[in-house]
Amino acid sequence: MNDRYQRPLHDLRISVIDRCNFRCVYCMPKEVYGQAFQFLPRAELLTFEEITRIATVFARLGVKKIRLTGGEPLIRRDIEHLVAQLAAIPGIDDIAMTTNGSLLTLEKATQLRAAGLKRITVSLDALDETIFQAINDVGYPAARVLQAIDHAAAAGLNPVKVNMVVKRGVNESQIIPMAEYFRGTGHVLRFIEYMDVGTLNGWRLDDVVSAEEILTVIDRQFPLEPLPPRQPGEVARRFRYRDGRGEIGLIASVTQPFCRHCNRARLAADGQLYTCLFNGTGHDLKALVRSGASDEELADTIRQIWTVRQDRYSELRTQETRNLPKVEMFRMGG
Ligand code: SAM
Ligand code: SF4
Ligand code: SF4
Repeated sequence: MNDRYQRPLHDLRISVIDRCNFRCVYCMPKEVYGQAFQFLPRAELLTFEEITRIATVFARLGVKKIRLTGGEPLIRRDIEHLVAQLAAIPGIDDIAMTTNGSLLTLEKATQLRAAGLKRITVSLDALDETIFQAINDVGYPAARVLQAIDHAAAAGLNPVKVNMVVKRGVNESQIIPMAEYFRGTGHVLRFIEYMDVGTLNGWRLDDVVSAEEILTVIDRQFPLEPLPPRQPGEVARRFRYRDGRGEIGLIASVTQPFCRHCNRARLAADGQLYTCLFNGTGHDLKALVRSGASDEELADTIRQIWTVRQDRYSELRTQETRNLPKVEMFRMGG
């Protein structure tokens, strides 16, 4: 099943909750998401059964890979039960999760792995405690995220990917320390260009440290060479250290957009379906499910949405597009 630009539907990102225990300045700035902010009430969240049912229909339509995200996915209680349900869907061959790591104990990592989670990405933007705690804005220590990465590895979720969003004037000083720390560990550090997701992070093009710049900085210290993509349209450009001490990824969503190959749909915690990270409106699958629609009707709806999809926001991005109405990333699922 292809969209208007011949892109197949292959990946489904599922946000399981809009809440988070961090207030990262580029995602959920504290001034906006303070005590008074109303997150989704429980009854508005899709249940595990509803998520599994929708994912099963997606699998029939060609989805092979699922990533659980949020908000912070590990805040959702018993999330490993959802992993187990998703792992049992015929056609789903890869289940991954993106997490801030704060709730990733060794026990949790082990349960997730046993339930069928194949891969995990832990976000960490700095090793320096002052810088990291200023970014997450709740004083959460980088040292504890490093422990979470160790727990994931000990539970067999290898290689662990580590996501670092680089924002100018905030954490570019951490590029080399992060590269140095993760070299030789078997974990894959991925540098992500700071994006104009949502409407509230005050994004400016000047704040973006380009993948090219990151590459130059690292290569000067630790020489790199490119690796071929594992599959066509892979989001991260891969490089390996010439001395054999592992690889890194660069995700140049702003300076080298990859819309051409974008094969992802996003299911938000409230059951809205989005076909692009930068959509301003979604399609209400929860209403459909709760009104008693059959699997066939659900499949028809998704087919109608995907086959007319024309999203390519990042290819069209300008300083002005940041002001378009967009759903916030923690709600849609990053
Ligand atoms: N809470 C989890 C976490 O932080 O890993 C999962 C959700 S979070 C929205 C998913 C990923 O999006 C994280 O790696 C985060 O760093 C990244 N992200 C959030 N805001 C971003 C932005 N403005 N530009 C680029 N990446 C961003
Ligand atoms: Fe929470 Fe992840 Fe957003 Fe940070 S990036 S506020 S950890 S959802
Ligand atoms: Fe896909 Fe939209 Fe990102 Fe382009 S901007 S890669 S279409 S999610």
